[in-house]
Amino acid sequence: MASELLNPESANWDVERGAFNVLLDQQPAGIAVPQSTDDVIDVVRAAAADGKRVAAQRTGHSAAPLGSLADTVLIRTGGLGGVEIDVEKGSARVGAGTLWGDFVPGASEQGLAALHGSTPTVCIAGYSLGGGVSFYGRKHGLACNRVSAIELVTADGELRRVDADNDPGLFWALRGGGGSFGVVTALEFGLLDLPEVFAGALFFPAERAGEVLHAWHEWTATVPEETTSVGRLMNFPPIPEIPEPFRGKSFAVVEVIHCGDAASGEELVAPLRELGPEMDTIATVPPAGIADLHMDPPEPSPYSGTSLLTEDLPAAAIDAMLDAVGPGSGSQLVAVELRHCGGAFSRAPEGAGALATLPGSFLAFGVGIVPVAEAMAPTLGWLGAFREAFEPYDAGRYLNFCDDPTDLETAFPAETVARLREVKQRYDAENLFHANHPVTS
Ligand SMILES: Cc1cc2nc3c(=O)[nH]c(=O)nc-3n(C[C@H](O)[C@H](O)[C@H](O)COP(=O)(O)OP(=O)(O)OC[C@H]3O[C@@H](n4cnc5c(N)ncnc54)[C@H](O)[C@@H]3O)c2cc1C
Repeated sequence: MASELLNPESANWDVERGAFNVLLDQQPAGIAVPQSTDDVIDVVRAAAADGKRVAAQRTGHSAAPLGSLADTVLIRTGGLGGVEIDVEKGSARVGAGTLWGDFVPGASEQGLAALHGSTPTVCIAGYSLGGGVSFYGRKHGLACNRVSAIELVTADGELRRVDADNDPGLFWALRGGGGSFGVVTALEFGLLDLPEVFAGALFFPAERAGEVLHAWHEWTATVPEETTSVGRLMNFPPIPEIPEPFRGKSFAVVEVIHCGDAASGEELVAPLRELGPEMDTIATVPPAGIADLHMDPPEPSPYSGTSLLTEDLPAAAIDAMLDAVGPGSGSQLVAVELRHCGGAFSRAPEGAGALATLPGSFLAFGVGIVPVAEAMAPTLGWLGAFREAFEPYDAGRYLNFCDDPTDLETAFPAETVARLREVKQRYDAENLFHANHPVTS
């Protein structure tokens, strides 16, 4: 029976309650590991009858904002797999437990891509429900707005298939409004005809960070929407898991992802290459070939992070960031970065979901590894300084990147928040579903 829950005595309790940030200690009221949609229905009905709440989770990448799960049944969705790709229609259907790493290589072999994120370990469902900022997004917008249908079990214990014609209000809310409305069992979305991208990273010695990041920042104002890039500072820890030649070293890094041919890509990156990088991995690769480009940790680790969206930035903002966490600051944050956004992220497509656009021009993100408790205070200090550098240009929040409880009003216009609350009231007035960034009625 799927509604029979794992408890702390169960053999796999610690595996199933694990979050991606190992500093978190999730202690739910019970854990269900459904293997089918019927199992999900059973669990939702049983939890509601038992006066418990329900939280869906696959990877625990965004477990931090959930708070206490003491009265909540955690549904771990890893058993809800299945990937179907319709090459003719350019569309896909995936089970809610599917990770980008389960999907991208197979689509890539067929010359197709989705609006996937920077790392294969992220789950398509959580990513898409929260928006979905892809390296192809300046050209193609947010992933949630490519979703064409969602199947979910709602608070009444019923399975619904929602799309533009069926429960359109709920379909709207799910696309960017997150996991507050039910347990998603499957999603369908449109694909891109994208056999290859021109992509990779340029690594410069950290001492050149000022020169490199200013040049990159000026360059972003000149590139077409086909081109997304990330300007970063990276301090690789001196641990065996980090390969040579990165181990224990610091770099200024520029990542480039160009959805165009090699000739136009070569021309675009020429000014960056003229700066003389120490390493240059930019080449023509299939979308599956950029799985490791962003060098996200593949395994759960102890960390703390911060993020905000910014308006267009003046050069002084780059200087402020360098003063806060650049060479000479003492910062040991493993990565700080600015992702170039704008372009199609800024335009609401017809029939868009709740997250119609991503405000601002850059997505700032900083993260520090916290291997021992004493490392937390300095890490929070550097993260705070990084954030302060951009606060004068604050454009709001992208909830998928927020590890703290965050006001919905910082992520959506007031009328969107009001509409999300109406949908919540209509489909889950008792607040059965416990989401990372909750919508409450
Ligand atoms: C290393 C790393 C790299 C990342 N890169 C990117 C990136 O490039 N672009 C980007 O946009 N984001 C990125 N993210 C952020 C990521 O999109 C969010 O953390 C997202 O919430 C992860 O979804 P998940 O399902 O894997 O996580 P989980 O923590 O398992 O789920 C997060 C939330 O999603 C909802 N949810 C998940 N599954 C379901 C379901 N079946 N039904 C209902 N609700 C559900 C729930 O509300 C849940 O609390 C990254 C995160 C990490 C840790």
